[in-house]
Amino acid sequence: MDCVLLASGSKGNCIYIGNGSDAVVVDAGIGYLKRTLEEYHIPAETVRALCVTHEHADHVCSAKAFLKAAKIPAAASGGTLSAMQKNGILSQSAEKILMHDRIGVDFGTLTVTSFRTYHDAAEPTGFIIEDGDARIGVCLDTHTVSDSMMTALCSCDAVVLESNYSEEAMKTDRFPACRECRLCGASCGGDCAVKRVYPRYLKDRIREDGHLSNEVSSKTLSVLKDHVGCVALAHLSENYNRPNLAREKAEEAARESGCVIHVSDQLPEYREKRMVRFSI
Ligand SMILES: [Zn+2]
Ligand SMILES: [Zn+2]
Repeated sequence: MDCVLLASGSKGNCIYIGNGSDAVVVDAGIGYLKRTLEEYHIPAETVRALCVTHEHADHVCSAKAFLKAAKIPAAASGGTLSAMQKNGILSQSAEKILMHDRIGVDFGTLTVTSFRTYHDAAEPTGFIIEDGDARIGVCLDTHTVSDSMMTALCSCDAVVLESNYSEEAMKTDRFPACRECRLCGASCGGDCAVKRVYPRYLKDRIREDGHLSNEVSSKTLSVLKDHVGCVALAHLSENYNRPNLAREKAEEAARESGCVIHVSDQLPEYREKRMVRFSI
C-alpha cells in the first residue's frame, strides 16, 4: 500500500492511502485537492471515500469541493458528520457513511476502521486502513494516546503519528539548541526564539485538549517501534516545533529497532521536496 502525506500541519492536512486499485483520502485540508492528486500522479479515480478525522478547518477546508469533484462519500463519526453539516461543509444531499467506533467499513479492497482520539472537536477519530496485505494507522490531533489506541496502532505495519510541539519550546518560547541547524527545515539560522508567541489560553488548549507533543509522541514510538516498520511524524506546529527536533526525539526512541522514521514538513517551500511518501 502507498501512503502520501500531501499536506500536514496547522495549515492543512491531507493523506492519500491506496493500493493501486482502491484508495481513501484522509482529511481534505488543502485546496485544489483533485488537481493536486493528479499533479503528483496519484490515481484520483481510485479514491473511494474521504475519511474525515474531525471537523476543524485544517482538515476539512476543501472537503465540500473535493466530495463534489470526486463524487465520493464522506466517511466519519456521527459527531464529525453532524458538525460538518452544521458548518455548511457537507450538503444535505452529500453521500455520508457513518463510521462506528472499531467497526470496519469496506471501500473496495480496503477496510477502514475508526478509533476514538482525544481532541477538542465533536467526535474526533483516527483510522486504520488495511487491504489484507498491509495495514496503515493514522493518528492525528490527539493530546494523548490511550492504551486501546496503542493496541490498535501496534497492529499496523506503518503509522502516521502526530508530533505537534516541543514541550520545552512551549514552556519557554525558545527552542532547545538545534544539533544540526542546517537540517532543521525552519531556516532558523541559529535563532532559538519561537516566531510567534502564543497566548496562555491557546497553549493550555494545545497541551490539555489539543495535540501530541514530541515527547509523548516519542514515548508512543518507544512502544510502536517493536511492532511497526515505519512511522511518519505529522502535524508539526509551525511555531512550536522544528522538523529536526521532532526527528531527533523520535530517532532516539526508535533506536536500534529498524523502525524507519519520516518527518512531514508543512512549509510550502519544502512540500514537494520533502513530501513524505512511502510504500509498505
Ligand atoms: Zn483539530
Ligand atoms: Zn489539525
